[in-house]
Amino acid sequence: MAGTHGDSTRSVKAVASQDVPGAAVAAPPVFASAYHLAADEDDTLDSYGRRSNPTWRQLESALAQLEGAAAALSFASGMAALTAALRVLAQPGHTLVVPADGYYQVRAYAREYLASRGVTVVEARCADMVDAAAHADVVLAETPSNPELDVVDLHRLALTCRSRGTVLVVDNTTATPFGQQPLSLGADLVVASATKALAGHSDVLAGYVAGSHPELMERVERERLHAGAILGAFEAWLVTRSLGSAGLRFDRQCQNAAAVALTLRSHPAVRSVRFPGLADDPSHEVAARQMRRFGGIVSFELADADAVHALVDRSALLVAATSFGGIHTSVDRRARWGDSVAAGFARMSMGIEDTDDLVSDLQQALGPA
Ligand SMILES: *Cc1c(COP(=O)(O)O)cnc(C)c1O
Repeated sequence: MAGTHGDSTRSVKAVASQDVPGAAVAAPPVFASAYHLAADEDDTLDSYGRRSNPTWRQLESALAQLEGAAAALSFASGMAALTAALRVLAQPGHTLVVPADGYYQVRAYAREYLASRGVTVVEARCADMVDAAAHADVVLAETPSNPELDVVDLHRLALTCRSRGTVLVVDNTTATPFGQQPLSLGADLVVASATKALAGHSDVLAGYVAGSHPELMERVERERLHAGAILGAFEAWLVTRSLGSAGLRFDRQCQNAAAVALTLRSHPAVRSVRFPGLADDPSHEVAARQMRRFGGIVSFELADADAVHALVDRSALLVAATSFGGIHTSVDRRARWGDSVAAGFARMSMGIEDTDDLVSDLQQALGPA
């Protein structure tokens, strides 16, 4: 559970270094690939950089604390983390459920790589996840889904999975551990991209797997050691450095999203708005039960692609960019990437600008009501 502290306090505490006189308050990165070995060969000190190192451990301990996990493992990207977990869990003969309406590269990986190795890949939308899980060995759920912001009832999904020994993996990238803690709702593993709101500055890629089953985590760790898709020390340090302000940033992003969703909804040029925090959103009821905050992303639909481009052109604050969770508010027209959404459908990721500035800029850019 999240404990009694607020998110910003949890962020700051998670990256606190050892409280020893003379030690640096912010631990510097250790770039070593090799370490002096102890004569005692049972000693488990650091030996080689691909196995473990002090810079990873600082990041991993912070991520584990935030996710409410016993342990976390860092990876070179969200996809490296996610595919490591799937390679460990989805064995030949298994049925794997992946989100039909989630991050598109996961489906491509499952189709192009896992299916040809004897894994039956089933794609299910959020609304069909629980039914699909009833016939699966491994389920990967993404909630809120990206980019349409539908929500999977994680408690129900976890009950279904548990009743038949199905392993449940939840992609927690969009919600972040400040928005929801899937492990406390019954997930076996969390996978996520730290590239988005956790690192939050659009300047580093990273990913992680978090969980509390020692045997599962050990298998993922061995996969990382053998496959070698590791995070560099500098990048690990950058993510740790960013995590200290992640709670504060996420707080502003959530506040901006709530205000922007209302602004968009009241404008006649906007055909529809999706944000789980809106009381009449189809996702709201389940989201309110399982999420601690509704997140920093709002999806909406304008008339066509030109209307989305014009919105960004007329705005002084919005940047056109894919990815999300950074300090700048950004807009991404998702049909560009092949998502099955309308041409004027855009995902807007809140930055940390002042809410009033963002709302008035958006009103101005949308044009007269
Ligand atoms: C971005 C993203 C990923 C992949 O993360 P990378 O760090 O870009 O590899 C996976 N899942 C979701 C939901 C994402 O948004």
